[in-house]
Amino acid sequence: MIMDARSVPPGTVLEPEVCIVGAGAAGITLAREFIGSPFRVVLLESGGMHYDQRTEDLYEGQSVGRPFEDLTTCRLRYFGGTTNHWGGWCLPYDAIDFEPRDTLPYHGWPFSKPHLDPWYRRAQKVCRIGPYDYRPSHWGISPKEIPSPFSGPDFEVRILQVSSVQFGPVYAEELRRAPQLHVYLHANAFHFDAGENNAAVRELSVKTLSGIDFTVRARLYILAAGGIENARLLLTSGKQGGKGLGNAHDLVGRFFMVHLVYSGGVIAPAHPRMTFDFRSEGDYTGFGGKHPFVSFIGLPAASMRRRHLPNMMISWGYKFSPVVHAVNALKRVLEGEGPGGRLMADLSKVVGNLEGVADFAARKVLFGEGIPIEALEVHCASEQEPNPQSRVFLGSKRDRLGMREIVVDWQLVPEDKSKAIAILRLLGAEIGRAGFGRLHSSLANEGRWPSDFYGNEHQMGATRMHRDPKQGVVDENCRVHGVANLYVAGSSVFPTGGANNPTLTIVALALRLADHLKKVLA
Ligand SMILES: Cc1cc2nc3c(=O)[nH]c(=O)nc-3n(C[C@H](O)[C@H](O)[C@H](O)COP(=O)(O)OP(=O)(O)OC[C@H]3O[C@@H](n4cnc5c(N)ncnc54)[C@H](O)[C@@H]3O)c2cc1C
Repeated sequence: MIMDARSVPPGTVLEPEVCIVGAGAAGITLAREFIGSPFRVVLLESGGMHYDQRTEDLYEGQSVGRPFEDLTTCRLRYFGGTTNHWGGWCLPYDAIDFEPRDTLPYHGWPFSKPHLDPWYRRAQKVCRIGPYDYRPSHWGISPKEIPSPFSGPDFEVRILQVSSVQFGPVYAEELRRAPQLHVYLHANAFHFDAGENNAAVRELSVKTLSGIDFTVRARLYILAAGGIENARLLLTSGKQGGKGLGNAHDLVGRFFMVHLVYSGGVIAPAHPRMTFDFRSEGDYTGFGGKHPFVSFIGLPAASMRRRHLPNMMISWGYKFSPVVHAVNALKRVLEGEGPGGRLMADLSKVVGNLEGVADFAARKVLFGEGIPIEALEVHCASEQEPNPQSRVFLGSKRDRLGMREIVVDWQLVPEDKSKAIAILRLLGAEIGRAGFGRLHSSLANEGRWPSDFYGNEHQMGATRMHRDPKQGVVDENCRVHGVANLYVAGSSVFPTGGANNPTLTIVALALRLADHLKKVLA
């Protein structure tokens, strides 16, 4: 059932077994797992079914560290959460992302990737993407097509899958039909009361912007309010004048990280007719259907280990070459790919570059040549090192509900830059060694972040997972250390951020958490 909290009689006390805060990717995934179970679930969502500025303003805050994205645009506060405008790029974290690393501090998850594999498999279904198989050769990319700098040992081609699931619209109907699941829209979790010693949540107070207050008394509570808001709610909760919930060791809000996004420079190919046209994006027809995917360049684990490097995702764009775009457009037209609206645009690209396309076709047939490139733009998304000085904390300003706003103090360590430089220099060296071309990179050559550098929307780490309460906010089951019945779902629990997009891992962890909670409740 989906209800409007603004019509709940003030003072009401709801008493479900499970209370989930936030209906984004994490919260909706968790709630769906309880459909058909004997447990009554309340899912509280701050927003309604659509964007509303007054509600979005509850996300306002300040940035006092490195320039950070506007807090009201890098996340969305309504049913479906930030997936209402995500890009849908999905891939699991790499096995190395879970491992402790000799020279990279604070690395290591409490479990390995194989442990999470069964939930990753199920997460693929939730995100409605293809099979749990990310081997490029299974996605129509033949190793023979891959130019040598990108076929090992230091760089390799990888693929990711693209989901078109916006969790709100896609799963609303299923939640509406579930009788023991009550979704409350316009319901803002406000304060967890966990008694004098903060040992277990007794009740959660909830507020609407229309002025209604009510209470939820559940056996178990799960915070799934997003990477920053999870920390905010822990910090504002607990006994009056205290440090917040789960914050005995001053860890809540610390280790805040994102992915670092910037231009890695431009590759000038060694020969004017150099080709670089293995399938880089599109719909792969296989595995019993059509599945969108995108390829990118990554570092093999052995390379990262040997050279003490963090993870990085490298993608590319074709610069100055309308023929490349026209040939790709022609391929899409011939294969009947892509959304219908693109057909006319694709056709006009082909017609506008007929001469170039014909030249390409002739050379392909006669000499087996691929699409000529003039230059490749290199785009990087690199891993940020976990850093206790990078943090979110409570400011003195309050939002319209009276909750203290968040302050983001996003900080990097010198190694974030020096390791990015090391990877780009390695890329440059490998491209040169293979006779592929030359990399011109302001970061690698001059050692400064390019002007387009920013920290992206993948907010991670602020309630990090660690078995030891002195090193993490939640334990390996995502339970807040020291609080018997409070759990956290979402990327705030990631101890390290890797370089891959986080949502498939968020969904896998939410499925794992749901399995655990059912055992706790049984
Ligand atoms: C432009 C953009 C593109 C992106 N592209 C990708 C991508 O391609 N691939 C990828 O993996 N990730 C991507 N992401 C990130 C992705 O959107 C997030 O990782 C994902 O949505 C996080 O899920 P979540 O459930 O933890 O949080 P959210 O989706 O943010 O959901 C949190 C929910 O909690 C609710 N809430 C907040 N506070 C309260 C409260 N006090 N009480 C009740 N409810 C509350 C919010 O309204 C919201 O519905 C992108 C993000 C952006 C902004």
